[in-house]
Amino acid sequence: MIILAIESSCDETACAILKDDELLSNVVVSQIDIFKAYGGVIPEVAARNHLETILPVIDQAFSDAKLKTKDDENDWSKIDAIAVTHTPGLLGSLLIGTLTARTLAILHNKPLYPIHHLKSHIYSNWLETEHTPEFPLLALVISGGHTQIIRMTRHNDFKIIGTTLDDAVGECFDKIAKILGLPYPGGPSIAAAAEHGNPKKYAFPHPKTENPLDFSFSGLKTAVLRTVQKECGVGLDYPSHDLKNLLKPEQISDFAASFQKTAIDILLEKLQTAYKNYPDVKSIVFAGGVSANKALRKAANAKNVFFPEPKFSGDNAAMVAIAAKYEIESGVKPTDPYKLDISPRSAIQ
Ligand code: AMP
Ligand code: MG
Repeated sequence: MIILAIESSCDETACAILKDDELLSNVVVSQIDIFKAYGGVIPEVAARNHLETILPVIDQAFSDAKLKTKDDENDWSKIDAIAVTHTPGLLGSLLIGTLTARTLAILHNKPLYPIHHLKSHIYSNWLETEHTPEFPLLALVISGGHTQIIRMTRHNDFKIIGTTLDDAVGECFDKIAKILGLPYPGGPSIAAAAEHGNPKKYAFPHPKTENPLDFSFSGLKTAVLRTVQKECGVGLDYPSHDLKNLLKPEQISDFAASFQKTAIDILLEKLQTAYKNYPDVKSIVFAGGVSANKALRKAANAKNVFFPEPKFSGDNAAMVAIAAKYEIESGVKPTDPYKLDISPRSAIQ
């Protein structure tokens, strides 16, 4: 079966073509360079860029997959199904991907599969690997908008057992990077600054939650802010965007390293608690943008712990295609393209 998948939930426009387990093409065009100047994504600008980029990206995916006709047209006769990210994400961004996928499904008479973005992130662990995770498993989804522990007992079966009560861990990386004056996106900038810093320089609290598997990251963000204010000798009302001008480079590195260590420790403590609650678990799977973090990969490195290939940890359409493959194999029926629901729901359901 050949699946063409489209992803446009945030600021990456992507198309991939998957033939069974073989990735024929994987095209990702990122808007990161546009948003560096603003320090974050502007939803309307992201949607407009998706609109300009999506058709060339699809053409490139056909080209890379060598699925062009002799007349250099996209050979839709080779495609068996279309998959598209339908939620969660930025509404305008999702609209461009889903409207494109719906139109193509109607035009070329292909079955259409709307795919949940977080499920796709989990399934990035099944891409281009011979050693795949075993069930039952625990998946830690750590992205810019979500932090969840999900238990899977078989394919396409998701049960949330822990979730963040406030900020997502990726959001926390991004906001702390802003306080420290590090460039967007914050996660990789914090990771780079942390390499030269002392992770034991500052001690930050590990928030307690009623359900021990839930997360709370807003307290950690505030704790870092308060410590920066104290170190800089300013009061609580000092504008947080000016703090960076008072920090020395080694202080920035020490804050980055100490925050990163605390965030990683919290994630791994929660996972260990979940593992104790579910002793039948055979694999642990990391997913989402924060899973690219090298210090996390090092700290969590163990047998039966899976991380996606770094090129699949950010948003891409290959993970949408593989998630669709397992949905189809689990018996999920295609959606009527005229009725595709794009209401932005967050959690996997
Ligand atoms: P996603 O929402 O899954 O697309 O992932 C984006 C999030 O991952 C953003 O919050 C990034 O700051 C974060 N991120 C990306 N790379 C890293 C990294 N190396 N370390 C920590 N966070 C990262
Ligand atoms: Mg994502």
